[in-house]
Amino acid sequence: MNYIIEGAQELPIIGEYDVAVFGGGPAGVAAATAAAKTGAKTTIVERYGYLGGQATGGLVILLVGLTDGKERIIKGICKDTIKKIKQISRIEKIGPHILFDPEALKLVFDEFITENDIKPYYHTFLSNAVIYENMVSAAVIDGKSGRSVIKAKVYIDATGDADFSKYCGLSVLKENKENLLPVTLGIRAGGLDTEKVKTYINQNYEQYQNILKSLGLPINIGGWIPTLHKGEAWFNIAHAQNIDCTNTQDLTHAEIKTRKIVHKLIDIFQKEMPGFENGYLIDTSAQMGIRDSRRIKGMYLFSREDTDKTFDDAIARAPNYISNEQGSVQVPYGCLITRKMNNLIFAGRCISVEHELFDMFREIPCCMATGHAAGIAGALACKGKNEINVKKVDIKKLQSILMEQGAII
Ligand SMILES: Cc1cc2nc3c(=O)[nH]c(=O)nc-3n(C[C@H](O)[C@H](O)[C@H](O)COP(=O)(O)OP(=O)(O)OC[C@H]3O[C@@H](n4cnc5c(N)ncnc54)[C@H](O)[C@@H]3O)c2cc1C
Repeated sequence: MNYIIEGAQELPIIGEYDVAVFGGGPAGVAAATAAAKTGAKTTIVERYGYLGGQATGGLVILLVGLTDGKERIIKGICKDTIKKIKQISRIEKIGPHILFDPEALKLVFDEFITENDIKPYYHTFLSNAVIYENMVSAAVIDGKSGRSVIKAKVYIDATGDADFSKYCGLSVLKENKENLLPVTLGIRAGGLDTEKVKTYINQNYEQYQNILKSLGLPINIGGWIPTLHKGEAWFNIAHAQNIDCTNTQDLTHAEIKTRKIVHKLIDIFQKEMPGFENGYLIDTSAQMGIRDSRRIKGMYLFSREDTDKTFDDAIARAPNYISNEQGSVQVPYGCLITRKMNNLIFAGRCISVEHELFDMFREIPCCMATGHAAGIAGALACKGKNEINVKKVDIKKLQSILMEQGAII
């Protein structure tokens, strides 16, 4: 590869905060809200023009993993979110899961930001970090206004892909491309008789799977579900494998490939699926559905042996999918922080867990729960008189504020 040298530039510092959150997905919004509620001057930086990450732009419209099979294990800001969605829109319980409208969630997340006096920067991409010893001293951001800098006492990485790990030179856990979970372009289809579609898929499951297989699609992941709107459904089936979502060329390839698949699927469904005769494509997800990316190598790496353990630094719960009785596991704070960095916390799907257990921690409610804890920890870390160190946060205080804010640990 050839290189050029980009000249040194003076970058304007456009804001100084106690806590700066990068990535406005479910984890990031929960982190920013919690930090602000705990008294920190907070900002949130998001590359797209709306908040919600996969839960809005990815068309992932079902909250899964809220319970241990019986009881709710995730409340706090996640519960507040559900309550707020209900005030402006319908939700539907599907077994233990909750179906919602992604446009309602965008509005609710905007409200969290304004109500809690959080400074939002949408259309803004975190593109680098300035590091001094074990501290992030500035975050470099890019947007239509050019390149600039945000400074904070504590930085929270909720980018899903642990982008800070690249800028800070941290080691990460990332599967080889062939072992990464597929990426998916979400499909929203309208004009359907969803009851007939359901009957067809249930009664002709093999035939339905054969359609997917004929387009080279994996059938062990994804599915479909009617949305809250009459005649409308979300199909989570247009997958692409072997995609490294930290590689822009791979992402470009995935967009082109899956879009073509979506149109082929719609065409086949119109011809072959009863209930889809008058069906049409409403839209595809504004952002590629990314499940699996970089995960940090944290102070603690959660593995199979940990599912029965309790942790002194527990900050959240996650459903236990490897136990036959389900139940839940505790998430330790050590999974959110690294040995190297003193003012950087991670939240959401990039926390430090083994790949085989990853499904337990990557669903929207659990991402909100780790975000919730990260936000409070960030606020606490910048409150003390001592030098900032997220590894020295008073865990008892963190846990008691989490519980005051309705979380379950
Ligand atoms: C196809 C699919 C189906 C799924 N199905 C379900 C389901 O049914 N139920 C469920 O609960 N979960 C499901 N999940 C999992 C869940 O949606 C995600 O794991 C969860 O949304 C992760 O939350 P997060 O906040 O960690 O990351 P994300 O939702 O990915 O949010 C990250 C945010 O950071 C922003 N960002 C990234 N990089 C930068 C940057 N450099 N600068 C600025 N902003 C940046 C992104 O734009 C995004 O808004 C599914 C996921 C996929 C992909």
